[in-house]
Amino acid sequence: MIRHQDILLANQFDREFLDHLYDITNKVRTIAKTNSGSLYLKKLLSDKRVMLYFSQPSTRTFMSFLNACQILGMSHSSIRDTTTSSEIKGESKLDSLRTLSSYVDLIIMRTPDAEFAEESASFLKKTRRPVPIINAGSGSKEHPTQALLDIYTLQRSFKNTGGISGKTILFCGDLSRGRTVKSLIKLLEKYDSVKIIQCAPDELQLARGFKSSNRLEEYLHEADAVYMTRIQDEYDKVKGETQRSYEGFKLTKDNIKLMKPNSIIMHPLPRRDEISSDIDDDPRAMYWRQCRNGMWTRVALIAYLFERDEDILKY
Ligand code: ASP
Repeated sequence: MIRHQDILLANQFDREFLDHLYDITNKVRTIAKTNSGSLYLKKLLSDKRVMLYFSQPSTRTFMSFLNACQILGMSHSSIRDTTTSSEIKGESKLDSLRTLSSYVDLIIMRTPDAEFAEESASFLKKTRRPVPIINAGSGSKEHPTQALLDIYTLQRSFKNTGGISGKTILFCGDLSRGRTVKSLIKLLEKYDSVKIIQCAPDELQLARGFKSSNRLEEYLHEADAVYMTRIQDEYDKVKGETQRSYEGFKLTKDNIKLMKPNSIIMHPLPRRDEISSDIDDDPRAMYWRQCRNGMWTRVALIAYLFERDEDILKY
């Protein structure tokens, strides 16, 4: 199995890696259930320091990574507002990064710049401190760790119905600018015969030739999972360009009646009104569970990066 040094793009993972990561995730969850297990995890990376460099807003990904690092006993520091750092004095982003890399053993990074995580990783490789980079969201391009937790959620949900292969996943909302959608589709393509349907307004559809619709109700009955997304208007080229309402792209108590009884509803969150809150307690709603799955998958991923995965599996 190839050992990844950085986590940058969904396409870097193969099935062998995914299966390995989810074995670690499941094991970590079991270990964490006891006090002695939690203490074991807390010592695992207590000699390591992590920097969370988030120059784009985040609630879940930031807190999920932070808690994952705490579970592993890492010390942490963070930058969330680059207007208070020396970038404002004209320092280049790469100089800032090189500085940060001298303090820590891992950098977890979210930036509006679609290429910066990859650029950072190759830049640091040429320095004397090639600390690993985890991409926690790069512009509208990629969100590989969200895709990892989404696949984990799908796999757990379809445990008794034959797994992910052969399933139909319907994506709805702002797909062309949804980085979680793009990363997840790349991982779904590693499973056999997964059918993808997109339901989005014409201007927000993916360019690739998936079966498409402008009407959510048209394919709801076919889906094994419905993956909802919000309108990503922070990427509007002209401010307010996507502020019109997208009434036809919402899940409600009414239209979920069209869904199969054992299908699931996912959302990377935050939501606006594309999922009505009165379906939150429907057993098919998985979006709160995705949050929790995300934290555990990230614990597994960080332990893997520091080569503690085999120790965990042996515990
Ligand atoms: N939280 C996800 C992301 O960072 C989805 C979203 O923002 O709509 O991409």
